[in-house]
Amino acid sequence: MRPERLNPLFAAAASLPGVGPAAVRALERLDISRVRDLLFHFPAGWRHTRAITSLAQAVEGARIALRVHVIAHEPSRGRGPFRILAEDDAGGSLMLAFFGPRAHGFAQRLPVGATVLVAGKAELWNGRWQMVHPELPKGAMPEAEPVYPLTEGMTSRRIATLVATALERVPPLAEWIEPSLLSKNGWPGFAESLAQIHGREDSALARDRLAHDELFASQLAWALVRAKRRRARGRALAGDGRLTRPLLDGLPWRLTGAQTQAVAEIAGDMARPAAMLRLLQGDVGSGKTVVALMALLIAVEAGTQGALLAPTDLLARQHHATLEKLLDGLPVRLGFLSGRDKGKTRQALLDRLAAGEIDILVGTHAIFQEAVVYRDLGLAVVDEQHRFGVAQRMMLADKAERPPHLLVMTATPIPRSLALAHFGEMDVSRLAERPPGRQPVDTRVVPLARLEEVLEALGRHLATGAQAYWVCPLLDAGAEDEAEPDAAAPAVARAAMLKARFGDTVALVHGKLPGPARDAEMARFQRGEAKLLVATTVIEVGVDVPNASLMLIEAAERFGLAQLHQLRGRVGRGTAKSVCLLLRGEKLSAAARERLKMMRATDDGFVIAEADLRLRGAGELLGTRQSGDQGFQVATPEQVERLLPAADADARLLMSRDGGLEGQRGAAARLLLYLFEKDAAVATLRGG
Ligand code: ADP
Ligand code: MG
Repeated sequence: MRPERLNPLFAAAASLPGVGPAAVRALERLDISRVRDLLFHFPAGWRHTRAITSLAQAVEGARIALRVHVIAHEPSRGRGPFRILAEDDAGGSLMLAFFGPRAHGFAQRLPVGATVLVAGKAELWNGRWQMVHPELPKGAMPEAEPVYPLTEGMTSRRIATLVATALERVPPLAEWIEPSLLSKNGWPGFAESLAQIHGREDSALARDRLAHDELFASQLAWALVRAKRRRARGRALAGDGRLTRPLLDGLPWRLTGAQTQAVAEIAGDMARPAAMLRLLQGDVGSGKTVVALMALLIAVEAGTQGALLAPTDLLARQHHATLEKLLDGLPVRLGFLSGRDKGKTRQALLDRLAAGEIDILVGTHAIFQEAVVYRDLGLAVVDEQHRFGVAQRMMLADKAERPPHLLVMTATPIPRSLALAHFGEMDVSRLAERPPGRQPVDTRVVPLARLEEVLEALGRHLATGAQAYWVCPLLDAGAEDEAEPDAAAPAVARAAMLKARFGDTVALVHGKLPGPARDAEMARFQRGEAKLLVATTVIEVGVDVPNASLMLIEAAERFGLAQLHQLRGRVGRGTAKSVCLLLRGEKLSAAARERLKMMRATDDGFVIAEADLRLRGAGELLGTRQSGDQGFQVATPEQVERLLPAADADARLLMSRDGGLEGQRGAAARLLLYLFEKDAAVATLRGG
């Protein structure tokens, strides 16, 4: 339960003076329902009004506040404004203009002969100073006022008034930030930060502090989840090398340093009696598969079973084929299960799995369905590739009473800060180094208008016996769901056109194609019978055909940077020099231009990921736009990148000193967790 001390902050916004039903509705449109939300609704900018004493000091277009004397009224003629002529102390004239029905009321408040303070934007109109609908401030006009993100029925002044009351309700809270971190950054306290953000323009330090608070709360919550997981009974699995050693001896190459280290980290985790929860992060082509296989073999050596889960049927089949090849000659029994397998075959496989006659099961999510019983699952590997959200990961982790070790692989080269924020419950191994001998892919941008030249080049390429991909966008640029009615239409049309030119060597895969048909087309391409594979983004993940050395991406400007990088990663896998042609349309947005430029400039996934983060924001990069679990309320993406590492380190430090959050600082941090609504994380403290 949330501590009572925080009640004033979690009180309904309606409890603020003067907030009636209409205001409640307006605030709700701004996602403000509680006092706390109002306080975290920061000004988007500041409006300035310069107090001057003479119109000679006015600057065209700038806001001024000035004492004037009312000289004459000029009632409106026709549709024109009601005008009031005024003068400053020096006799400089200022025309006040009022439009519409309210003009008359102003005229009454500004009788001829009165001296009043007016404020507003000074504009020159036919050589004379004019002010349209000036404000008539009662006291002095503030020099700077916050401008809030608004909605109909709510003004910045109204919000500022409400905020002022809300600020008085902030209870005294003990400091949760490590004192040295606080002083090093010169950050103000929590309440003072809120006051500064709403009260003055230069509040960068205060904003950083609150962003840190939010990130610290997030990382502390992850740390608590991790700690709970560590307390959960897992099982220590130690290999004896009888499978891993011959595997390594049989490989035509040696593991890279990065692979060796990742394997060591994984083996170390698995050898401990707490369940591993590790993210293996590595760019396309960095060699994650063999690392996963080493982990699976350790599980098998230790007498348990392993499972490898792929996001699509296609990838599952490919993983199965790859493992089959790598395991050739080793006494390992490999099984495959997809949602498509039905009836007897399926039952036979399930029986063997339950009897422990299968050592490693590869498949789609079907392998974790309830009906699937393992004799003894020791390790689950999830080839995540964008598609497994936090919720799914947690579900999988919680499935068994003694949870299996879990290794999640992702090809999204997530910047470190984001990895911490979004895979915060996991330890991370990174394959930053690529296997040697890879030639960089030669990337060029070509206007689609030069299609004929492109087709000729493609013809020459295919004539050498090499293969190629042709990727088409989905019909609706915004559509992510490949099952959309006609989303694959561009691919279908392009394939028809290419078939007319290149004949039967053209294969086509897209999301609408029934599974078996898609597999058959894919297989045709993988076996080299088809030379050109036309596809929607279904080939984005994991497909490995080393003989394919040309990638054409049509309407490349419509793809995200991370996606382009993933697609390009399909080529450059063999020994031949590979080329990626980005076919672009006529009109390009500035961001699209920037993306294509970036693609030409580098093939370093981490550099691209950082750029993508800048260009698009975190949610899209992670493909989690809709899931809502990536968002921070206070911290901007820039702040996440800059402040998250320290927030994470601080959270870990606190956990190492006071894992139960019982000391003075721990207790303060508990309040912070509630403040940022990490109640579930606090609950792990009681339960465990
Ligand atoms: P990822 O899944 O990370 O995209 P893969 O595991 O599919 O990458 O590996 C890409 C290719 O690199 C595969 O053909 C694999 O056989 C090869 N490979 C993996 N590790 C090495 C290595 N250490 N040296 C040379 N080639 C490697
Ligand atoms: Mg892979």
